[in-house]
Amino acid sequence: MNPPYLLFDVGGTDIKSALSDEAGNLLGIRRVPTRRGTPDPAASLIDQLHGLGSDLMAQSPLLVPQAVGLLVCGIVDEDAGLGVFSANLGWRDAPLREMASKAFALPVGFGHDVSTAGAAELRFGAGAALGTKVRNAVVLVIGTGIAAALFVDGHAVSAGGYAGELGHAAVPVGFDCPCGAHGCLETIGSAGAIAKRYTQASGRSVDGAREVLEAMETGDPVAARIWNEAVEAIAFSIAQLCSSIAPEAVIIGGGLAQAGEALLEPLRRSLRNKLSYHREPLIVPARLGQDAGLRGAYLKAAEAREVHP
Ligand SMILES: [Zn+2]
Repeated sequence: MNPPYLLFDVGGTDIKSALSDEAGNLLGIRRVPTRRGTPDPAASLIDQLHGLGSDLMAQSPLLVPQAVGLLVCGIVDEDAGLGVFSANLGWRDAPLREMASKAFALPVGFGHDVSTAGAAELRFGAGAALGTKVRNAVVLVIGTGIAAALFVDGHAVSAGGYAGELGHAAVPVGFDCPCGAHGCLETIGSAGAIAKRYTQASGRSVDGAREVLEAMETGDPVAARIWNEAVEAIAFSIAQLCSSIAPEAVIIGGGLAQAGEALLEPLRRSLRNKLSYHREPLIVPARLGQDAGLRGAYLKAAEAREVHP
């Protein structure tokens, strides 16, 4: 049994919030747009979280939260409690953990959205489903962009918030990236890139990578080429990881993972072709879906309460 916690998962476009009960159920899950374009984005975020927290507590007056779990996007220094930088939301070196702790008068467990959601995926989701304790793993989130959570010998690798930026590591056939570098995996392997490149190559505008997959399944050679190039690029990046941190499992989440075996099967094949003596990781889909972040916030809240009894 755990006490109730207030949980927030702050992304560039929206905030998910929930209150957990003693059994760890997530109550009142809600998603609202993140307030943007204010002069003090950090203060504005905390104010918005306070409002969401008050709503949750009013809905379940018998549950008295004992800690807060707060995840944010961007570059995050978990140890220092800082939102170092968010391109989407605009803060720099914002002491978000301390600000939230003051606003709620509670201990706050603070973390990066992708890395903490990855930890939850490993503990409660795909990692748990593998049955054996996986100590070396990568959770690869492929959506509009690509981000990763890395776990080595049972520990999350943070490096002051700079680890796991797999989407901005170059691959052989990458393109110019908005980040300023050339060849980033994101420019060819993300769901966003698949849709954009298909539209450029075919002249047919599509809503997302799902439509490219559908076109490929009806025999469209342009769609097949672009899908395969994305798979090759992702496999290249995973192969690099196999020789650097040697994961036992690679868990694929994010929008593109909805393609299921249409993505995973060719990915396994392409990866196998690139490896020799390396340990070949299992490639499996994520299982927690949209709630992975809130589950991660739950882990952080529980840690915070242990640190500040
Ligand atoms: Zn880049």
